[in-house]
Amino acid sequence: MTNIFLGIGGNLGDRHRQMRTAVAEIRKVLDDVRVSSLYESAAWGVSDQPAFLNAVVRARTSLEPLELLDAMQAIESDLGRVRKQHWGPRSIDIDILLYGSQIIDEPRLKVPHPYMAQRGFVLRPLADLAAGLTLPDGSLVGELLTTVSQDDLRRIEGPEWA
Ligand code: ATP
Ligand code: CA
Ligand code: CA
Repeated sequence: MTNIFLGIGGNLGDRHRQMRTAVAEIRKVLDDVRVSSLYESAAWGVSDQPAFLNAVVRARTSLEPLELLDAMQAIESDLGRVRKQHWGPRSIDIDILLYGSQIIDEPRLKVPHPYMAQRGFVLRPLADLAAGLTLPDGSLVGELLTTVSQDDLRRIEGPEWA
């Protein structure tokens, strides 16, 4: 069993419902699932689109990394995600942030997630669950959080949302 962290988000349709359904599906596949508080964030990258809901999920799994990616992409598809514009609007996005302390660099899967250290909407919920966690490069989540903007980020519900 490996400890893993997922970043989930979405900005289309009934955002709350999509987020809760995503977590319900994740609970069917992974063990010991815990969720962060729920946040709302202004869109990142392509800013002309609705605000996102974001959260981080912590879990344990015996799935291998690419099996985990397949399982999470299946949940995205089930929830009606249509792949269009990169960084564009989506009903649900599930990113693998961390897979134990492994560094993975494959065409389909880069872990730690390449942008996680720059994103307040990832680091803030991650810090809810594991502020003392160190990434494979030795950086501390709680420290990284102090280096990014949280201006466009708002905590809207505690961890009981899912
Ligand atoms: P970003 O990765 O910057 O958050 P995105 O989530 O919008 O952007 P997607 O369109 O969801 O990007 O994913 C594009 C591809 O990224 C996926 O098909 C997947 O193979 C690949 N990928 C690479 N590393 C990861 C990872 N750590 N978690 C999820 N997908 C990944
Ligand atoms: Ca993403
Ligand atoms: Ca993604």
